[in-house]
Amino acid sequence: MARSKHTDDAEVWQVLRASAGQRDGEPVAAEEIANQIEQLIISAGLPEGVRLPSERDLAQLTSASRPIVSQAIRILIVKGLVESRRGSGAYVRRKPETSLAATVSLMLSLNQESVPHLNDLRLWLESDGITQAIARSTRAEVDAGEEALRQLAASAGNTSAWISADTLFHATLVRASHNPYLASIYESVHETLLNYEYRNWIDSGTVPTWLRPAEAAGLTALHESILAAVRDRDEEAGRIAVLRHHRVMSEHLAASQA
Ligand SMILES: [Zn+2]
Repeated sequence: MARSKHTDDAEVWQVLRASAGQRDGEPVAAEEIANQIEQLIISAGLPEGVRLPSERDLAQLTSASRPIVSQAIRILIVKGLVESRRGSGAYVRRKPETSLAATVSLMLSLNQESVPHLNDLRLWLESDGITQAIARSTRAEVDAGEEALRQLAASAGNTSAWISADTLFHATLVRASHNPYLASIYESVHETLLNYEYRNWIDSGTVPTWLRPAEAAGLTALHESILAAVRDRDEEAGRIAVLRHHRVMSEHLAASQA
């Protein structure tokens, strides 16, 4: 994924200033701020990898409070338009499969009992994706997987950052199947489930037990096994690692429904 190292903060500020000009000092809801930032990303065609201004600067610019801006950023993360990177802020993440994710997400919100079905679908897509990745992945793709795993490990204790990093990790490996349709459908399904799993924690700004730094090593290890199977081109190990991750995710999903 291409990332610009130098952020185009000046450009972001310019467009945002233009769209925030008509604020009259009334308190605003997080949704409204999220919409403003979303409009900025879409209409200004901000490329993937551009860093958004800091929460403090966004708060000043939109006359909203820091907590509101923070909540707005979390809304955008859930929508897949922004990704949070620990210690360095929020970045634009534009994805062509956004509308597919929206459809899956709508189906799930209309029938929340269908969560286990969506989770099964996720397992099937990932199993095939990883099998293909084991056969076809390049060295560069395995390296990208390593980098994504490092980001994942560094995201323990931060729910929003974890969602971004976990999606990036799984999507990176499934993309190494070299089937763009499988990769897109998989990513939409995965992300919808993850947002569902973590929505309560996202809303309240808290961290589930299994993501606390002391506990997260076990969760990171589950991912390390998937990566190792791709790196070692071990199909059997890949199937087992994907299944193990699936079982833990099923438990977390069940816990999030309680
Ligand atoms: Zn995962």
